[in-house]
Amino acid sequence: MKRLFNLLLFIVLFGNSNAQNRVSVFEITNYIGLEDKENNFSVNHALKVAGVPFSTYTSFAQSINNPVIIIPSTIEVGIFPQTLIDSLKNYVSNGGILILSQLKENQLFNLTGVSSYSYSSNKKMIIGDLDKLNDESYLLDKTEEVNLKICDSSFVTGFGTRGYINSTASSLAIFDDSSSAILKNQFGDGFVYLFGLSWKDVILRNQVNKDFKAAQTYSNGFEIGSDFYFFLIRGIFEKYIPFAVSKHTSVSNSNSSLIITHDVDATSAIADIMTDFSSYEFENNIRSTYFVTTHYKHDSIAKDFWTGYADQILSVKNKKHEIASHSVSHVPDFDNSTIVQLGDCDEVEHSNYHPFYNGSISTDVTVCGEVSVSKQLLKEAADIDVKSFRAGYLAYNKNLLEGLESMNYNFNSSNSANDVLTSFPYQGHLTLSMSSDTSSILEIPNTISDVFTEDRISEDNYMDKVAIWKSVQLKNSFNHSPTVLLIHPNRLWKIVAEQSLIRGLSANTAIIPFEEYGRYWKDRVSTDFDFDISSDSNMIIQLNITEEKLNKSLSFSLKNGLALKNIQVLDADGKIVEHSELKLHDNDKLVYFSGIGFDHSIFTYDETSKLINYSVYPNPSNSIFNFKFSLINDANVSIQLYDELGNVVEEIMNNAIELGNHFISNTKKLNQGMYFYKISVDDQHYYGKVIVN
Ligand SMILES: [Zn+2]
Repeated sequence: MKRLFNLLLFIVLFGNSNAQNRVSVFEITNYIGLEDKENNFSVNHALKVAGVPFSTYTSFAQSINNPVIIIPSTIEVGIFPQTLIDSLKNYVSNGGILILSQLKENQLFNLTGVSSYSYSSNKKMIIGDLDKLNDESYLLDKTEEVNLKICDSSFVTGFGTRGYINSTASSLAIFDDSSSAILKNQFGDGFVYLFGLSWKDVILRNQVNKDFKAAQTYSNGFEIGSDFYFFLIRGIFEKYIPFAVSKHTSVSNSNSSLIITHDVDATSAIADIMTDFSSYEFENNIRSTYFVTTHYKHDSIAKDFWTGYADQILSVKNKKHEIASHSVSHVPDFDNSTIVQLGDCDEVEHSNYHPFYNGSISTDVTVCGEVSVSKQLLKEAADIDVKSFRAGYLAYNKNLLEGLESMNYNFNSSNSANDVLTSFPYQGHLTLSMSSDTSSILEIPNTISDVFTEDRISEDNYMDKVAIWKSVQLKNSFNHSPTVLLIHPNRLWKIVAEQSLIRGLSANTAIIPFEEYGRYWKDRVSTDFDFDISSDSNMIIQLNITEEKLNKSLSFSLKNGLALKNIQVLDADGKIVEHSELKLHDNDKLVYFSGIGFDHSIFTYDETSKLINYSVYPNPSNSIFNFKFSLINDANVSIQLYDELGNVVEEIMNNAIELGNHFISNTKKLNQGMYFYKISVDDQHYYGKVIVN
């Protein structure tokens, strides 16, 4: 009966296609006479990341059922009939929100509050008004997030922009020549936002690396780039739609996601230190992703460091980590598509693939050879169905995605966020050109790494580098953006660096392996929803899929959700999906689901803790337990072992020791049974249970 009731409610709420809380994308193909693929793609992508529900229409009559309309293309002079111009004005005047870019049609100037514009391709910056932009989106709250480089000064010209002169509009951002870059105008009961830049130039251009060196940092720096536009769009959606619901950009109830990845591309890593890394992570309930180079031939890059290490790969897999490919040859000219061609993915095998690097140039290296043979070898070594790839040196070959598609890969990690100007995943582009088709491969950019081109990371300075990582991770977490860490498991002190980052993570950061995050993101994009609210503050979120198909790591952010009386999530069959709720930002609420699929740890850094990162292993053991821990200050430390009745069996230590990393084991032979330990650091105590079998 309850189910029937819900089904009826569902029909009442959503059976009527009018009055929805979605964004309409009005593609004006019929008026411009061609498909504006680049701008349409870019707006589509922006809305996907923003997580707002949207529908695409080619007629204005269909678009007006929603409270927000975006027109991705430039409105040229004379392409809209007078009736459409009047309808646009009516829509806004009656309270609609309209978002335009690069407007040329002067009949719409009074709607947008401008008097004229000047076109140019030599603008270098947009300079945002922090107060006004922060009023549009709470995520835009730092100067570095609203001042955006669009073209490096080393270029004479970049992409084309329109700098507007305001009549009634107010500028949210200006270009470096003081003309308006982003403006807002009230018209009747509604508002118009006008961008003096094309969507393709601030989104697609960055993804295919055709930007004019617009990165704020070369590497290992916080980069907002395209993400500015995603946050602004969601901010506008949340500003005008009461209790607006959008898909959260981090897994489940986490504030942000950290993805730990390792490149195993040297003998020291595969033979030795990879095992230490994977054990440290396993003991701390962390799952990460190992990108392994299957370098089986001696050349000037390295000797064979693949043959004979299958057990090591298997042991990493058995500790629940993901294994991915980091190529066969790891050649530095992999990005040169004249030297490294696509090759034949159907024919290439280990036995007939002989990649070689002589110190200056590659021979017999193909994209198919790299992605296919490494996949075959990892399958043979540890029965792994490899789904992810990362190129050596992030050298991006323009045929890479074609090779990955034909070998059934799903994810690629060969870009840095600084390069592609976004921290969020996107569908890759097959030929790395603006007009290229999108690929099925999801690109997940790297945000921070142990590769510092100037002042390289070392045993002496790594804590300074960790401080840089932490600052990027913290800024990303404020934006609920993901942080992908790349760390080579080739030095023991790098474990300490990773541990310091983990212990210093911002609150409620989820640590999740690469492919799991990628699957979450793909499911997030494909899951659509609607929401509606009844007069007595009851919110219904209606999913387009059944609960069985729902990725339970997906979660929703509800603007002012704390003021809602009741929230209900229904699946495509009208069945209630159980959920939990959490305060997010200000009065916003996070709605998330528990259950299978949400099995990663959430780390909350307790800054008052004197003992950090302690582990006791192996557990169970046949008698000896190792206590590993770090102190943030000098302290008196005692470790005692008790039997089940509470008698002290052994005092393992009791003395004043220095800050830093420590390691000690019990010495007494223990009988089979259960024991308890107590670690005291000054006045703080930590307890745990260990088993002797
Ligand atoms: Zn590498």
